Amino acid sequence: MKKLALHWQILIGMLLGVIFGILYNQFNLDPVYVNNWIKPIGTIFISLLKLIAIPLIIASLIKGIADLGDISKFSQIGGRTIGIYIVTTLIAVTIGLVAVNIIQPGDGISEDTVAQLMQTYGQDANVKVNAATNQVKSGPLQFIVDMVPDNIFGAASSNRNMLQVIFFVVFFGISLLLIKPEQAKPLKDFFDSLNEVVLKMVDLIMLIAPVAVFALLASLIVGTTNTELFSALGKYAFAVVAGLLLMLCFYMIVLKMVTGISPGTFLKGISPAQLLAFSTSSSAATLPVTMERVEEHLGVQKEVASFVCPVGATINMDGTSLYQAVAAVFICQALSFELTFADQLTIVLTATLASIGSAAVPGAGMVMLVIVLESVGLPADKLAIGIALIFAVDRPLDMCRTVINISGDATVAMIVAKSVGKLGPPKVKNWDDNLEKTA
Ligand code: ASP
Repeated sequence: MKKLALHWQILIGMLLGVIFGILYNQFNLDPVYVNNWIKPIGTIFISLLKLIAIPLIIASLIKGIADLGDISKFSQIGGRTIGIYIVTTLIAVTIGLVAVNIIQPGDGISEDTVAQLMQTYGQDANVKVNAATNQVKSGPLQFIVDMVPDNIFGAASSNRNMLQVIFFVVFFGISLLLIKPEQAKPLKDFFDSLNEVVLKMVDLIMLIAPVAVFALLASLIVGTTNTELFSALGKYAFAVVAGLLLMLCFYMIVLKMVTGISPGTFLKGISPAQLLAFSTSSSAATLPVTMERVEEHLGVQKEVASFVCPVGATINMDGTSLYQAVAAVFICQALSFELTFADQLTIVLTATLASIGSAAVPGAGMVMLVIVLESVGLPADKLAIGIALIFAVDRPLDMCRTVINISGDATVAMIVAKSVGKLGPPKVKNWDDNLEKTA
C-alpha cells in the first residue's frame, strides 16, 4: 500500500490532537495526565529540532560558501537577501495596515470587555511590557555589536545567538575560499560529510513529526482556559488572519512571476515546514525543516539556502510585522487613542524594525509590539491594558504568523536563487522519497 504523504500525516496528527484536546476539556479531565504523558513528546520533538539547528547552519553554510568558489558571488547573494527581506517586510506591514483600517476591529469593543480582559490577562501583559523595556535600554548600534561573538563556543551554546554563529561561519567560509584549494580540500570534505549526516538527522526526526504535532496541539488545547473571551476578539483575529492570507497570496504571485513556479508546487514543497511552524510557533525550531524543504524539494541550491534561511529565521518575520501593525492599530482603536497618518507611517517603520528584533520563538512578536505602541505615543499606563486586550488570542495568531514567517523565508530564498542562477530542479522528485529511504 502506498504510504500517506508526510504533509497528510502531519495534518492528521494535528487534527487528532485538536479533537483530543477539545474532548478532554469537555469531559473535564485532569490536565495533569496530558502534561505528564503527552506534552513531553512535543517538547522532545522541539528540542530535537533545535538540537540540530546550529550544526546544520555550520555544516551547510560552510559548504555553501566553499562551493560558491568566489567571494563576489557571496556578497551578491548577501546584498540581495537583505534588500528583498526589507522590501517584503515593508509590504507585510502595509498589508496589515490596510486590513486593519478596512476591517476596523477595535470599534465595538466595550469598556466592560476591556476591563474583563485586563482583569484576566493584566499580569501576563505586565511581564511582556517589562521584557520590552529591558530590550529598549540598549544603544542604536547594539544590534551590530551583538552580532560579533567573542567566543565561538559561547555563541554556539545557545540557539538565540544564531546571528553570531552565522557571522563566524561566513567569516570562516570566506577564509576557506581564500586559501589554496589543496589546503582547503580536507576541511571541505569534512563539512560535506557533516552536512549529509545532519540532513539525515532531519529526516529521522521528521519520522516522529505526526505524533509530535498531536502531542503539541493536544497539550496546547488542554491548557487553554477562558475561551469565552475569544469571541470578543473575533474581528481582530479575522483582520490578522486575512492579512496573513493576503501575504501568502502575494508570495505565490511573486514566485510565479519571478521563477515560474506554480502555487501548487510551492505549497506542496513547503507545507511540512508550514505545518510544523503552525504546531511549534517557532521559526527557529522549524529552521532545519525549512532548509531541507527549500533545498531538496524546491530546487534552491545549498549556496543560497544555507545563508538565506537561517538569516531569514532570525531577521525576516513578515507575519510578525503584519500582526504588529494590525495589533497596534486595533489596540489604539479599542482604547480610543487617535492615530494620525504620520503615526501609521511610524508603525510601518517601527514594526519593520521590531520584527527584525523579534526572537524566533513563541510569543516574541508580542514583546516587540510594546515598542511599536510606544513609538506612536501610547501612554505607559495604557501599554499593559493594550497587551492584555490581545492576550487571549495571541497563541493561535502566533501559530499563523509563524507559518507566514517561514513561508517568506522560503520565497525569498527562491527569488534570490533564481536571480543568481542557483534555482534548479528539486533533488527529490517524489517529495516523500527521503523518508521512504530512511524508514
Ligand atoms: N513565533 C514567531 C516566530 O517564531 C515570532 C512571533 O511573532 O512571536 O517566528
